Amino acid sequence: MSVTVAHTLDDALASLAATPTATVLAGGTDLMVELNGGHRRTDAVVSVNRVRELRSWRHDPAAATLHIGAAVTYAELAAEPLASFAPALAQAARTVGSPQIRNAATIGGNVGTASPAGDGLPVLSALDAVVHLASLAGRRDVAFAEFATGPKRTVLQPGELITGITIPVLSGYQGYAKVGVRNAMVIATASACLAVDVPGRSVRLALGSVGPVILRAPEAEALAVAAADFEAGAIDADAVEAFGAAAGRAARPIDDHRSSAAYRRRAIEVLARRLLVRAFPGTPGGE
Ligand SMILES: Cc1cc2nc3c(=O)[nH]c(=O)nc-3n(C[C@H](O)[C@H](O)[C@H](O)COP(=O)(O)OP(=O)(O)OC[C@H]3O[C@@H](n4cnc5c(N)ncnc54)[C@H](O)[C@@H]3O)c2cc1C
Repeated sequence: MSVTVAHTLDDALASLAATPTATVLAGGTDLMVELNGGHRRTDAVVSVNRVRELRSWRHDPAAATLHIGAAVTYAELAAEPLASFAPALAQAARTVGSPQIRNAATIGGNVGTASPAGDGLPVLSALDAVVHLASLAGRRDVAFAEFATGPKRTVLQPGELITGITIPVLSGYQGYAKVGVRNAMVIATASACLAVDVPGRSVRLALGSVGPVILRAPEAEALAVAAADFEAGAIDADAVEAFGAAAGRAARPIDDHRSSAAYRRRAIEVLARRLLVRAFPGTPGGE
């Protein structure tokens, strides 16, 4: 197997163009498991986690956006200063694997794997992230909602890599919560991210592990916007119940070795309600 360690984006793109069947390697926490387990084969690997452009991030205060390079790790996302710009991503990052995994695993790898259970992905969905792609032929941007076409399937073309993602820096509560079979080192059985944009009067809810891709819950979002008092940070208890039920209806869970569909739907209802009450702590009755 040929292994190229790229140090610049141009090097990485040139290597991928020269061998379009090559596989991109970042932290290797998904890829090496698949290769070692014989679930995937490749004759060439291009390692990208030493590419400066992919390792860096940039806050644009005027645009209120945060650009995160694809090779930024979960350990970096979990810590300051990034945690304050993207609190839900930091929360999700802290639930990923172990410290060793978080030191190696990258956000670009999570997006590239496109597992519906990826912990970073409901956050990117709720924040309407833009995924930046590049190849020697040029660059293009893809809305996160259009990036994954199914479980572990994406719009990435041969020779193309993810350079980073851009998310808005919102003013309002953001939270991520997940349910699994234990508290740590666990793949989500069900997960949810809620992001509130107070000036924009929006509530976004994204669901993980309950469909072939990350799902949004538009009925629940509209219901919360109609019922919430954004200034007071309050919402009434009936609306919280209805929000949870609408989130459950948005889920498209399956029965598998990790959980039943019914349990997953129920977990989504509970997670959605819990996050909404955290977002609007003036809620009568509390959490
Ligand atoms: C013990 C263990 C625990 C884990 N726990 C969790 C967990 O709790 N939550 C969770 O979400 N995940 C978990 N994972 C999975 C994994 O750590 C994450 O999905 C991680 O984000 C993958 O990033 P990586 O940099 O290691 O990707 P890699 O393994 O290097 O790559 C993953 C895939 O993305 C592609 N890729 C990587 N970077 C790019 C790029 N820039 N452009 C295009 N394609 C790219 C690769 O070709 C490959 O297909 C765990 C893994 C292990 C081994």
